[in-house]
Amino acid sequence: MSAWRNWSGSVVAHPAQIVRPRDEDALAQIVRGAAQVRVTGAGHSFMPLCATAGTLVSLDDMAGTLVVAADRASVDAPAGWSLKRLTEALWAQGLSLANQGDVNPQTLGGALATGTHGTGRELGSLAAMARGYRLVLADGSVVDCDKDHEPELFEAQRLSLGLLGVATRVRIAVIPALHLEERIARRALAEVLDTLPALAAATRHMEFFLFPYAETVTLKTLHPAAPGPLTAQEDGDAVFQACCDLAAAAPRSAAMIQRVLARLTRASRRSGPAWQIFPSERTVRFEEMEYEIPLAGAVPALREALALVRAKRMPLIFPFEFRMVAADDIWLSPFHAGACASISVHQYAAMPFAEHFAALEAVFRAHGGRPHWAKRHTLTSADVVALYPQAQAFGQVRKRVDPGAKFMNDHLRQLFAFSL
Ligand SMILES: Cc1cc2nc3c(=O)[nH]c(=O)nc-3n(C[C@H](O)[C@H](O)[C@H](O)COP(=O)(O)OP(=O)(O)OC[C@H]3O[C@@H](n4cnc5c(N)ncnc54)[C@H](O)[C@@H]3O)c2cc1C
Repeated sequence: MSAWRNWSGSVVAHPAQIVRPRDEDALAQIVRGAAQVRVTGAGHSFMPLCATAGTLVSLDDMAGTLVVAADRASVDAPAGWSLKRLTEALWAQGLSLANQGDVNPQTLGGALATGTHGTGRELGSLAAMARGYRLVLADGSVVDCDKDHEPELFEAQRLSLGLLGVATRVRIAVIPALHLEERIARRALAEVLDTLPALAAATRHMEFFLFPYAETVTLKTLHPAAPGPLTAQEDGDAVFQACCDLAAAAPRSAAMIQRVLARLTRASRRSGPAWQIFPSERTVRFEEMEYEIPLAGAVPALREALALVRAKRMPLIFPFEFRMVAADDIWLSPFHAGACASISVHQYAAMPFAEHFAALEAVFRAHGGRPHWAKRHTLTSADVVALYPQAQAFGQVRKRVDPGAKFMNDHLRQLFAFSL
């Protein structure tokens, strides 16, 4: 029995077997014959979504190619491809994704299954870009779904945590190839919070990183740019790694280190193909909680969270990350009730996180927040029903396609007890 670990190292599972089918027939046979199945992408989720004592499926070895639709508005791609592989292949076809998150090792299937997103007041999550799926269901049957064919299955599948089946292919919306310029600037926290709506409206992508003990933020904006190759980026991760190790050895120094790190931020610019500008390297391992907060409550929630970190002298060494995401109509999407600010709290993977995250989670919940499904949260089944008006509709579809709960694990059984 080999062990499986997620990216941060906080989830360790011991599946009875880890299988890497090479084609859809082999996958269907595996799913049909297994009692319990989970599928893993790149293992970048912080919650135990991929954990199982049964069969763990990886699509790493599945064959497949990219097919561009005749109108060039969508492509059909293997769900097991990483976002890096997908966006590089799109670029070769003169295409881009309209938006991406911070990194690109995640698989297409895994990113869509948890509602992975980037930043942009007018831009939805990757799940909102999905136009169709090909799925292997619990009984081994294969089904294609989109808004015209099996529409309920499609609606549920758009954000489904791998509960409905194994996606083998995804049809996703694309745009003509895009070049971007990234601009980094240090700004006063008070100025950014006071001018946030104007700042968000003026930029296609706006986010900021904020050390909770500092009074400045690192503002990152992306702007359409003239075509050209990728320009160089400075790598500050070695310094940051040393700072994290220092904070782990002496947690009381976290506030002082943060203030120094904030002062080190320098203005910079780089530009290039969008697929290379969106993602950054993340070499220092961390644990993360993220709450999506309706826009009206976002700044008050952030101010309260910062005050709590300072009052409790929480030894958090990573910055908060503040982004914006457009509304969508996906049943299990945290953005279904309107556009949100997305506030992420990180902790160095070698330092305790649970107590701090719990205190901050209460603040974000009080402001109407819904968690990122892949990141640390403590929702219960009752919370899911209360926060998601379409949860029961999702549960009905889940019961129809997987009556034996083959795709459940302990974590999901707790979250979706209402649908068993
Ligand atoms: C360093 C880092 C940076 C991140 N940045 C961002 C960010 O900018 N924005 C953001 O929103 N999130 C971000 N995340 C979270 C990450 O995008 C999600 O956890 C995403 O789900 C990970 O994709 P994965 O391929 O690793 O999936 P996994 O974590 O392996 O799996 C996630 C879920 O998808 C299911 N799944 C995977 N493949 C399939 C399939 N083919 N069919 C059906 N179900 C499937 C799994 O069963 C599981 O439920 C980040 C995480 C890390 C570690």
